[in-house]
Amino acid sequence: MKRKALLMIMIAYATAWVASSCNRGGGNAGEKENVALPVATAVCDGVTSLEIDSVTTLVTLRDNASPKTQPNSLFYGKDRKDSVKVERLSPSGEVATTIHAFLVKKDNKLVLFDTGVGSENGGMMLARLDSAGFGPENVDYIILTHCHGDHIGGLLRGDSAVFTRAEVFVPQVEYNYWATQSGDNGLLAMKALGAYGDRLHQFLYTDTAALPLGIRAMAAVGHTPGHTTYKVGGRLMIAGDLIHGYDLQKQDLNISPSYDINPEQAAESRKFFMQFAKNKHMVIAGMHLPGNGVLIEAE
Ligand SMILES: [Zn+2]
Repeated sequence: MKRKALLMIMIAYATAWVASSCNRGGGNAGEKENVALPVATAVCDGVTSLEIDSVTTLVTLRDNASPKTQPNSLFYGKDRKDSVKVERLSPSGEVATTIHAFLVKKDNKLVLFDTGVGSENGGMMLARLDSAGFGPENVDYIILTHCHGDHIGGLLRGDSAVFTRAEVFVPQVEYNYWATQSGDNGLLAMKALGAYGDRLHQFLYTDTAALPLGIRAMAAVGHTPGHTTYKVGGRLMIAGDLIHGYDLQKQDLNISPSYDINPEQAAESRKFFMQFAKNKHMVIAGMHLPGNGVLIEAE
């Protein structure tokens, strides 16, 4: 009987590579004007590259300077109902996490999934993008999984749009939710999305042709009311915040972080899409998965 397991793709951050391939000013990576996609799988600090199929490459852009951890207490749930279980499953007292954006190169286009916290908040997504050989002006499309600040902060510098050409896509239900929220996150969402004017596109899940390059949106609500995963081709799933603390949650997918607005709904989405990805042998790219944010199922 075959044993299935989710294995983290670990790509070593070889120091030598950092020097030789991570500077846009040198080698092929310096041809910023030429958006013809590099064949090389550059590996730099905070940037990894994975060929998904012959026309699709997944590039991880780690937004934070170094890997992070989060306290177990983030996962205790309402009235600390899961505290005993969480402490048992995570004896170190903390859970690895990080913040990633993902750049997908497909059919000679660049698609950025989420944008990190923004450079004014210490986010390094733009620096990583630069290391990968691109500037913000090279990005054709931005597709958002949801509108928390660590996913949309990078859309803005001051009050201005960072990405000068990109068409931005957000689920309409997600937009509508934040439009009704008076707190900081709601204000940020309206400001960041509003900066893109008529380059902002709200879409319905029922509109299967709403997104470019055949990318399909799949409602994965719970983390936020419009939290969305995306299927890119047949093998890649952009998972957003389906999982926030992999090492803990992989042991019990019912465990939710306090960031999940509707924890029960989030758990149902998590279980459904992890199984979905498993059944279809998909690569999972998650914004808070540790390491380079990429999981792949191995038989
Ligand atoms: Zn997040």
